[in-house]
Amino acid sequence: MTETVRQTLIGLLELRDLDRELTRLHKRCEECPALIEKNNRDVEHDRGELDTKRQVIQTFKKELHQNEVDLKVYEEKITKLNHQLVGARTNQEYSAIQDQTLLLEKKKGDVETWILEALDQLDTMEKTFTESEQEFNARLEEFKDLKGALEKDLTEYESEAGVMEQERRDKMYNLDPDALKVYDRVRKALGGDGIVSVDGRTCGGCYMAITNNDFVRVVAMREIVLCKSCQRILYPSDLKTRER
Ligand SMILES: [Zn+2]
Repeated sequence: MTETVRQTLIGLLELRDLDRELTRLHKRCEECPALIEKNNRDVEHDRGELDTKRQVIQTFKKELHQNEVDLKVYEEKITKLNHQLVGARTNQEYSAIQDQTLLLEKKKGDVETWILEALDQLDTMEKTFTESEQEFNARLEEFKDLKGALEKDLTEYESEAGVMEQERRDKMYNLDPDALKVYDRVRKALGGDGIVSVDGRTCGGCYMAITNNDFVRVVAMREIVLCKSCQRILYPSDLKTRER
């Protein structure tokens, strides 16, 4: 066993731990804006629904107003007909006016009924709308708080990652460049760890069996040994506890 190989492997393991942590931090850095964006979309969707409800109420109010106008018109016409009734000269004229009045009274009654029901309905609609609006405003506040917290988290993660990246550069400086090249290459190609232990004669990265010869080479630690299947750097599982 040469101390150099052992040291390289230990150095790579420290790098692996840093890289795991950096991966976790980078993932969180990506998650924060995504989470803000998702919540923002939800809030905008709710705002849209609230606007639609507001629009429906406006339209309904216009319809109600039109019916109130109609009601007035009927009332005026009926008053006019009542005056005409007084001055009717023939029975025929009298009953014609009466028929018209009855017809208008019927229409007026229908409109009155509609207005009364509509006022009830409008009341319910406005109550529901107020509740929705309050819920939305509460949600908006929650979102603002969440956004603030996530942005704060993001700043922390980024600064933490910055410190670790510097630490990584320092570590790289002391490592065997060839081993580092292999480590970085396989890490980028496969994702996850670039160095894995040999457990029970299988590669801890791809779980394929290691040949007897390779196993002996890994345990001897005289050179850097790669898994033939996944190309990850292999280290003996008792590396850290082993005597020098
Ligand atoms: Zn492997």
